[in-house]
Amino acid sequence: MPAFGSFQFLPQMMPFWYFMSFIIGCCIGSFLNVCIYRIPAGKSLSMPPSHCPKCRHRIRWYENIPLLSWLVLRGQCSSCKCRIPARYFLVELLTGLLFFVLFFKVTLDRQPTGILLVYYGMTMLIVTTAFIDYEHRIIPNKTTYPAMLLGLVAALLFPQIWHTTSHFKAFLLSLASLIGCTVFMAAFAITGKMIFKRDALGWGDVKYIAAVGACLGPLGAFFTLLFGSLTGTLAGVGIMLRKRTSLKTAIPFGPFLAAGTYLWMVFGERLTSFYLSFFPQ
Ligand SMILES: [Zn+2]
Repeated sequence: MPAFGSFQFLPQMMPFWYFMSFIIGCCIGSFLNVCIYRIPAGKSLSMPPSHCPKCRHRIRWYENIPLLSWLVLRGQCSSCKCRIPARYFLVELLTGLLFFVLFFKVTLDRQPTGILLVYYGMTMLIVTTAFIDYEHRIIPNKTTYPAMLLGLVAALLFPQIWHTTSHFKAFLLSLASLIGCTVFMAAFAITGKMIFKRDALGWGDVKYIAAVGACLGPLGAFFTLLFGSLTGTLAGVGIMLRKRTSLKTAIPFGPFLAAGTYLWMVFGERLTSFYLSFFPQ
């Protein structure tokens, strides 16, 4: 009998499940749009119901269908005709595609399906992080704390994610990774501040990496940090040279960290075995 969290998909049903993973992603993307708009503004996620920020027109259910409504309304409020930013459409489409690719990868590699819970939760974190950090230069606790909790709960429910059958051991591994990443990143942030006399690394970045550690393990956190800082610095230096600003004001690191985390989810095992292939067993 397959272990809990290792659901077997019937081959003839696969096209349906691929399609569903995209649709679910688009619906989640619709919710993430609310998070991206309301969390930095300090507003509640549930109340009041969705409305036009300009004319207060209450968004009805058929005006809230992912992708389709934005296209049918041609990016305008149905009441006052003010513009609805293309970001709403983009976030829904992007989340749909990111969900689809991860579902494809998990079924292709025959990974335990329980890992989709972690992957999808992480995708929600990276999309909100990328857009909120880009627009507001913060990575809010309201996104990183739930992701840390998700990592611990998923380890308890699906220990095979941590390559063990013991629920307790998987939980401890996730917790140790969370604490280890926090301590390492905090030391990094404090040292950086002592050397550069300013915040080289924000506390939001520290908590983000810790959340990745709890969900994807220390290697995933390390890869995210490495990829995010390398690509972020390269892009930042490019902008700095063109606009003559400082690196800190030039670019937010969130979108680069987010890209690193996603790449790890899709290619992590392949990168690990490629690296290990250089060492004879
Ligand atoms: Zn309106």
